[in-house]
Amino acid sequence: METNEAVTHCPQCNKQLRVDPRFVTWCDACEWNVDPLPVDDAYPAWRQKLEHRLADTLYRELEHGTVHKPGWDAARVAAYLLSFLVLLLPLVALAAGIAILVVYRPQWLSIPIAAIAFVIAWALRPRPSCLNPDHHQVSPDEAPRLYSLLDEISTATKARPVVSVVLTAEPELWITAIGWRMRPVVGIGLPLWAAMSPQQRVALLAHEFGHGRNGDMRHSLVVGNAENILDELESSFSPQPYDELKDDYAAYVEDTSGTLITRFVNALVGPPVRAYRWLLTRASLRGDQRAEYLADRLAAEVAGSEAAAFALERLVIADTAYRGLEKALRFGSDVEPLEAVRRAVSDIPAREIDRRIRATRIRETRTDASHPPTYLRVKLIRARPTTTAKVVLGLSDSATIDRELAVAGAPALTELRRSFAR
Ligand SMILES: [Zn+2]
Ligand SMILES: [Zn+2]
Repeated sequence: METNEAVTHCPQCNKQLRVDPRFVTWCDACEWNVDPLPVDDAYPAWRQKLEHRLADTLYRELEHGTVHKPGWDAARVAAYLLSFLVLLLPLVALAAGIAILVVYRPQWLSIPIAAIAFVIAWALRPRPSCLNPDHHQVSPDEAPRLYSLLDEISTATKARPVVSVVLTAEPELWITAIGWRMRPVVGIGLPLWAAMSPQQRVALLAHEFGHGRNGDMRHSLVVGNAENILDELESSFSPQPYDELKDDYAAYVEDTSGTLITRFVNALVGPPVRAYRWLLTRASLRGDQRAEYLADRLAAEVAGSEAAAFALERLVIADTAYRGLEKALRFGSDVEPLEAVRRAVSDIPAREIDRRIRATRIRETRTDASHPPTYLRVKLIRARPTTTAKVVLGLSDSATIDRELAVAGAPALTELRRSFAR
């Protein structure tokens, strides 16, 4: 029997394992306990198999270098077609309302029916995305070095320059198109930013600009709006908490005719709407995943393939970065919150990072995740010839940006601290 608490044996292959009480104990020889979290899989085996195969073929297609641009394959055409049909719904409702008003008599009946049609048209109208008013924007005056880095990356990726940068306390980076003119805005999550090395930051930003260059934001305007309409319909035609109250009241007054009508309409409209939503998700999945791979490829061209691969691998520490920030803000600390994030992530041993990357293979091979599994994304970058960086962020420039963000990011951190106090 071992007396040393820091060592144990793998119950599967008996290999000697080091134990670090702060992290999961696992075996790198047989992968015992690589992913101790239960995988919640509600899908039947045939569907998982099918999705594995889809992920695999997509990976191979890209590995052999035949795909360079997001093309108009059958799945993408189907996604757009399905979306356009949904986007027509508000127009149909509007036209129906006008027709009823003009043609249908008596007027006392046609006016309320037309009004219902107009309300439906208004509720389902497509909307451009707008910025969350709670988000903190940082101006070029507040962060000149950050904006000049963004300009360098947008030039290198041939993407449109960003009009604004938003700072958040989330462990993520994103790009979005605001308004009908689809002006690009980049979101920088401070904990993730703090956890990355200078060149990894370039890689993550270049990946987001890659989405901008490849027209993914236009795609999300069309498909995203159709999805919003379907979600709206789905929630309108599924049982709501309010319906239960109504049911109770109807049972109380012994008149269930109204609730029967609601249930009948829900049963009639709900399932086809849900089926359509599922179909649209399926059709756009492949395109969405391909867009991620292509954005990764651009990131490798701009930041260098090594930095791009390492940046992806480091995404597995995002939750540790966030927890480090949370701890510093919740319990107070003598170190600055973003410095606390840096310390929390530098404490993670390489072995734990290795485990988390392996866990992505077990957890994310299903194609439903909007992103392909991290290990495949890394593998694809490493499978291609190495590239050197077009945009280099030096240590001192990176430190300048950190100083800019320490000031400009303060409101986002203060708000997060306040949310913990509530
Ligand atoms: Zn083992
Ligand atoms: Zn992406």
